[in-house]
Amino acid sequence: MRYLLLGKTGLKVSEVGFGGIPIIRLSTAEAVKVLRLAYDRGITLFDTANAYLDSEEKMGLAFEDVRSRLILATKTLKRDREGVEADIDLSLRRLRTDYLDLFQIHQVSQESDYQKVTGPGGALEAVYRAREQGKVRHIGLTSHSIDMAARLVRTGLFSTIQFPFNFIESKPIDDLHPWARQQQMGILAMKPFAGGVLDNGELCFKFLRQFPDVIPLPGFDAPDKVDQIADIYETENSVSPDDLAAMEKCRTELGQQFCRRCEYCQPCEQDVKITAAMAYPILARRMSPAKAVGFSAKMMESIRNCIKCGECVKRCPYDLPIPEMLKKHLALYEEHAGRREG
Ligand code: SF4
Ligand code: SF4
Repeated sequence: MRYLLLGKTGLKVSEVGFGGIPIIRLSTAEAVKVLRLAYDRGITLFDTANAYLDSEEKMGLAFEDVRSRLILATKTLKRDREGVEADIDLSLRRLRTDYLDLFQIHQVSQESDYQKVTGPGGALEAVYRAREQGKVRHIGLTSHSIDMAARLVRTGLFSTIQFPFNFIESKPIDDLHPWARQQQMGILAMKPFAGGVLDNGELCFKFLRQFPDVIPLPGFDAPDKVDQIADIYETENSVSPDDLAAMEKCRTELGQQFCRRCEYCQPCEQDVKITAAMAYPILARRMSPAKAVGFSAKMMESIRNCIKCGECVKRCPYDLPIPEMLKKHLALYEEHAGRREG
């Protein structure tokens, strides 16, 4: 495992990090075991969010005795100063620490998010104050919209950018990473497996290792998965012509029929939570159906408001048949919730 500077933060981090969603579905003891194994295999960057149910608490428990040797990153979905102040204190408590190495404003993807976060009384005011108080060391950003991410990167307000990046979502190579490098920002890659769409770890990470200043944040839910990725990082490997062919085959098989979470389709006038609901099948696979039903209830119930007006379809750059896909996902959710009729 190599250790790299995370852009202008000056933080030294392992060349691959740990994403905190999948430990949600583990018991506390299992989660602690997986987290400690990752730490033993040399991973030092752990990324979570207070929206990820008990993920922060599990990390806090796993790492209390080695806190100073780790880089802990978390995030907030709140947009207002008071909400973000409360979230920072909540994350500190759950992570059992008195400072957060990296605090990220999560999912800034739409114009309204941008205005609220950067405007008076917005999220940034709270994070600046927390930084003065020593609660937060560096400020980052996550987004699913490449245009918004590139715009925010160019403001120079943030030290890191976290964006989906994998061999089927490779647009950041041209449209985001060069801007981030120009600002000397740390670059974090969420969804190295495309949110669960890809399952060939070797192929995914061979692709990602071509970009040594981009730190992927795979999620782990089992010790063997930690070992698999750590082994890849301990081996010299490069992308072969066969790998390129396998990636191309995968792109062709997936076609265009999957949601990239770009959020261009939103807002929906009927308040259907489109992006979140589109992710339901993957979430159910990653979290377990029982937990996904509880976690996603609000988003999935919002599908019932859909009047099939087709406005979202016009805005989706991938031409997804959104209402039909949502209907299918709702049926799956109902099946998991044991409420499917007929
Ligand atoms: S088709 Fe449904 S989800 Fe899409 S904008 Fe119209 S009401 Fe909203
Ligand atoms: S449905 Fe289309 S527009 Fe909406 S988030 Fe998914 S890919 Fe983007």
